[in-house]
Parts: sequence; C-alpha cells; structure tokens
Amino acid sequence: MTFDELRGALPGRVLLPGDEGFENAARPWTLTVVQPVAAVVHAADAYDVAAVVQYARGAGVPVVTQPTGHGAAGGVADAILLRTRQLDTIEIDPARRVARVGAGTSWGRVQAAAGAHGLTGLAGSNPAVGVTGYTVGGGMSWFSRKHGWASDAVRAFEIVDAEGLRRRVTAQDDPDLFWALRGGSGDFAVVTALEFDLFPAPELFGGRVLWPATRIREVFEAFQEITATAPDELTVWFQRLQIPDAPPMVGMDAVYLGDPDQGRTLLARLDAIGDPIIDKRGVFGAAHIGAITAEPTDPSPSLSRAEQLTELGDAVIKTLIDEPVAPLANLQIRHLGGALAEHRADGGARGPIAEPYLLYCLGLGLPHLAEAVKARRTAIVDALSGQISGGKPFTFLTPDEKASAAFDSATLTRLRELKSARDPHGVIRGNYPVLG
Ligand SMILES: Cc1cc2nc3c(=O)[nH]c(=O)nc-3n(C[C@H](O)[C@H](O)[C@H](O)COP(=O)(O)OP(=O)(O)OC[C@H]3O[C@@H](n4cnc5c(N)ncnc54)[C@H](O)[C@@H]3O)c2cc1C
Repeated sequence: MTFDELRGALPGRVLLPGDEGFENAARPWTLTVVQPVAAVVHAADAYDVAAVVQYARGAGVPVVTQPTGHGAAGGVADAILLRTRQLDTIEIDPARRVARVGAGTSWGRVQAAAGAHGLTGLAGSNPAVGVTGYTVGGGMSWFSRKHGWASDAVRAFEIVDAEGLRRRVTAQDDPDLFWALRGGSGDFAVVTALEFDLFPAPELFGGRVLWPATRIREVFEAFQEITATAPDELTVWFQRLQIPDAPPMVGMDAVYLGDPDQGRTLLARLDAIGDPIIDKRGVFGAAHIGAITAEPTDPSPSLSRAEQLTELGDAVIKTLIDEPVAPLANLQIRHLGGALAEHRADGGARGPIAEPYLLYCLGLGLPHLAEAVKARRTAIVDALSGQISGGKPFTFLTPDEKASAAFDSATLTRLRELKSARDPHGVIRGNYPVLG
C-alpha cells in the first residue's frame, strides 16, 4: 500500500507534502521544533489508529503520535505524524470518581467536566496540554504533592500495540505494559483512550500574587518559609517574570486543595510582604486552575530547561535571585515533595522524585533572542552544578536531552527490554525514545 492508498482506506484525513494544509498540520505547539514528516494523519477513531499502525508496520515507517505538539522534540524525519485530536470523548462517572477520556483530549475540557461534579483530575498548569502525552510522561500536577503522579492515577489504557492490534491494558491483563505506560513514555503503544481516578475538589483556594522585582528577597524568603512547613494539600511556585514591555516582577502562585479558610491562613505570610501589584487569591473550582499561571495556549516558540534542585541554598540565591531574568522570560521554582517523593509499590515507571524543588527556565526562541536564551540556560545550569541532581521529570525534557535523564538505571533497563520485546521493528516512536 502507498500513502495515497492509505488516504483512500481511512475515514480520517491523510495529508502529504504539497497538500493544502500539510505544513500547518505538521507544525507542533512548540514552534522551535521543525517536523519534516512524510505524512500527517488525522485519525477519526481508534480503528483509524489501528489501520495507520498496521500500514506503518508493513511500510517500515515509524508512527509518531502527537495530539498537540507541546512535547515535540524533533527526530521525526520521514515518520507518519498521527494526530489524535478527534478522539475527544469525555465520560465522567461521579459515583466511582473515574474519567474515561479519548486520547486527543486536552486538560481544559476534562477539568471543566470533572469540576462540574466537584472533582478534579491530576492536571498541570496549562489547559491546552494533552491528557495522554502528559500522563504517559508521568504528569506533575498542582495536586501531585497530595495525590501523586497523574500516571499513577490511571486505571486502564485502551491501546493499539505495535502489531496494530487494539486492546485494553490494565494491571491485571498486562502488568508490564501497564507499568511502562504509567510514566515510562508513549514509546510502547498508541493510546486511544484512558481511564483514571478523579479526586474531590469542591473548592480550591489560591491564585497568583505579584510584586515589583525590587521585593524579590522578601518574596523568596516567604517562599522558603511557606514551603518548609506546607501540608501536601498546598502547592506553591515561586515566579520571576520578565514579560516583554513590562517591568520585571516577582511572585507566587499557589493552590490549596481543601477548606478555603485554611488555605487563606496558610498563605497569610504573603500579606506580611504587603503592597502587591496584583493579588488574585480567591476561591475557585477545578475547571479554573489554568487561570492561575495564565500561560499561553496558542503555539509558542519556547525554549525551556528544567532541573531538579536538591536545596535552595546560597548558590541558588546568587544565581536565581540576585541576577536579572533577561534574556529569559520566566524563572520558576516549583515545590515538589509530598506524594511525588513517595515510592508506591503499585506505581508505574515514573517512580518517586526525591528532590524538593524543580527549577524551570523559559525563554523565547525568536531569531534575535535564541542564542542568548540558550547561553543563559547553560550559564544557570553551570552555576548550580552543586545544587542540581541531573534528574528530570520526563514531561520537562527538552529536545537536546534524552529519556535516560528521566529514569534510574533499573527503570531504564526494564523500559528498554520491554520496548525491544513489544516493538522490535520500532514502529512506534515516542518523543524521547527509551532506546535513544
Ligand atoms: C505550556 C506548557 C505547560 C506545561 N505544564 C506542565 C505541567 O504542569 N506538568 C507537567 O508534568 N508537564 C507540563 N508540561 C509538559 C507536557 O506535559 C508535555 O510536553 C507532554 O508531553 C505534552 O503532552 P501533549 O500530548 O500535549 O504533547 P504532544 O507533543 O502532542 O505529545 C507528546 C508525546 O506524548 C506521547 N503521546 C501523546 N499522545 C499519545 C498517544 N495517544 N499514545 C501514545 N503516546 C502519546 C508521544 O510520545 C508524544 O510525542 C507543559 C508543557 C507546556 C508546553
């Protein structure tokens, strides 16, 4: 079968180079990544997904599944780019507190549906991020200090395997694959739907508070104090912002999963700083967590870098507090710990992260800025060599990094063995292949 014949065989759309709309369809959310793929397929349903994998297997062409391209990493030349956005069903069972969602769904819609029942999924900061890519990479949520990795909340995956066969994967049916897909990446199967636990969240308290950058020492001290004693229900991120055409700012984002009055008390330390530029703390529902950081949802030329920090000592203060943010746009420190650090006997490949903080640097890869942004990222990492462990959450890997940075050696070995056993012809290609 040729690509043209594939086009005739599928209800979904197949776009080839030269077709109208091909370039747009091949472009990822992360615009700094170029994707010279051989074809783009917009799958209409799980049968289309199976047909594409079967075709790819026969033709010796890899399949790259990418609903949004938030995690695009390159390495896709001549592959079939499988778009799953049309697999977008959402079913919420409030009594069992379980969601079943199609693999093309983004978090914003899931949170809106769950929030209507006073429930939440283990969503992260951005409503446009796809549930599946986030979850198979582990998924670090606002609620992960309390409830763990999003991947460990999964009950079942519906998949197409590397042979092109559709099946359901649970802890009972296929414990190895179930383990690998829970945080070990999308390198093992194409997920068509997933079923995961929801958690009670009738009301949340939190929001963003910003001050002029001149208040940075006071804000950072408050961040250190709050995170030193925060219960697992409270998650706080420290933010330095250098938004184009705006003065530099420093701030904190917070979410408390519990009684709003208790949340207000836990964050009262921020009142002692005084005189914020904005203070958006308030009561809100799970559907609105994306509004806290108000990150861009449209495609962006972002260049990022994440590092797990072992402490917030003098070197961190000198490098991240005393130096200007520019040419980066954002320096963020996320408080980890809680359930993220706990080993779960029934957990998936993600496993615990012991480091208490995550550093995230973000800049824009625009032509006049890209080199300066990359140089600053490197300078920060060099200056903090004594405080960074080298480990990464899988979902925060960047195109110049490898999957091996996200796993301990025993986990990586098991993932590699499974990949070789289940996909010996390399039909399925994750964004950071475990054999890479
Ligand atoms: C603005 C922004 C905010 C973010 N915030 C957070 C956060 O708070 N917490 C966090 O943990 N991460 C966060 N991330 C990282 C994000 O979770 C990863 O980039 C994730 O890979 C995105 O998944 P996606 O499906 O949207 O992206 P895509 O690029 O479309 O997919 C990424 C990869 O996921 C796998 N995948 C996707 N769909 C399937 C499928 N159906 N079957 C098998 N594999 C599949 C594939 O390997 C694919 O290459 C953020 C990223 C951005 C850009």
